[in-house]
Amino acid sequence: MKPAQGVIAPQGLRTGRTVLDVARIREDFPILKQQVHGKPLVYFDNAATSQKPQVVIDTLNRYYATENANIHRGIHFLSELATAEYEETRNKVKRFLNASESREIVFVRGTTEGINLVAQSYGRRFFKEGDEVVISAMEHHSNIVPWQMLCEQVGARLRVIPMNHDGELLLDEYERLLGARTKLVSVAHVSNALGTINPIGRIIESAHRRNIPVLVDGAQAAPHMKVDVQELDCDFYAFSGHKLFGPTGIGVLYGKARHLEAMPPYQGGGDMISLVTFEKTHYNIIPYKFEAGTPHIAGVIGLGAAIDYVSGIGLDAVAAYEGEVLAYATAQLSTIQGLRIIGRAKEKASVLSFVLEGVHPHDIGTVLDREGVAIRAGHHCAMPVMQRFGVPATARASFAFYNTGEEVDVLVRAVRKVLKVFG
Ligand SMILES: *Cc1c(COP(=O)(O)O)cnc(C)c1O
Repeated sequence: MKPAQGVIAPQGLRTGRTVLDVARIREDFPILKQQVHGKPLVYFDNAATSQKPQVVIDTLNRYYATENANIHRGIHFLSELATAEYEETRNKVKRFLNASESREIVFVRGTTEGINLVAQSYGRRFFKEGDEVVISAMEHHSNIVPWQMLCEQVGARLRVIPMNHDGELLLDEYERLLGARTKLVSVAHVSNALGTINPIGRIIESAHRRNIPVLVDGAQAAPHMKVDVQELDCDFYAFSGHKLFGPTGIGVLYGKARHLEAMPPYQGGGDMISLVTFEKTHYNIIPYKFEAGTPHIAGVIGLGAAIDYVSGIGLDAVAAYEGEVLAYATAQLSTIQGLRIIGRAKEKASVLSFVLEGVHPHDIGTVLDREGVAIRAGHHCAMPVMQRFGVPATARASFAFYNTGEEVDVLVRAVRKVLKVFG
């Protein structure tokens, strides 16, 4: 297949200041050497979860083989070691997000739990009947449903920022939604279904002019671009470890200290208390107030290894390289008759959703799988986005820094094969 004119397949791509040695990077990911249905694996489902470098796998093994102990309670050697590593990771996350203090970093199960924590703790405390929470039309279900649950509980109302046909939020409409009843704005930094990078700096500024706090769902941003919570000035930021090349079951909620201190605990149990009697319990200081029970210690330490790994590559280099892969894939797929790309925002990151005329996305996914190409077909936990674009589902290829232009060529050939089978 001939590449589209003027577009060069990115391999170990040169982006001005940085060179990403993708061939060497791929060596760090054992799963990428795998064959699927007798074909080399092409893993384009990074928005669902990303693969793990050997150093993360080794860190988990080492933890269980040589350091396993419960934290914050033992006075023995292993417990102190595990506690030190756990808390050192909190510092790593603080630096990674450029938070001002490590007590602003709460370990949770993932983005979903981070948002539920804010909805149930901050929301239950500060929302009254008639109050409003503003989300956007492109949110993942995990940034819709927790707010609907809160609304039901307190009699509040959900307001939705609409988007245009390219998948960009309508900021004028957003401004009109903000008012005296707005108690919180909660938006995705990057859309998992469309790839849109939302102008969250401006979104936060507008909300703050009216003293409205903002939560950012960073699940799709943290793995692909530098995030600076102080520069953004967001009030909360949530992301998942497993999309950032770390283990499943661990994630981060960043919250400004003054918010976290004003919030009641989310769950009760061990570690989140300072004193318990049957008459009254005194809660621990932040962040421990929000980490009830034995946490995912191995997950936290593994996340630390993932953050070290990604930081070693550099998120600016990652963003630049993935931008080239996305541009190349967009150009190549656009040459296919009957293929429609869903989500054509000017600012996009690492996600390419598309539909093929007359072919169900699940059939695309099945044929691609036989070619070794892993994509996602479905509603991507964003059913309202599908409704907005009038499609039942899309096929979605999503990229990471270990993907190559050659892999994009495999994808494009496989999509042409789909058309031969179903077209
Ligand atoms: C994946 C994702 C979530 C949910 O993350 P979990 O890891 O499943 O908790 C939320 N928002 C966006 C944009 C996502 O891509």
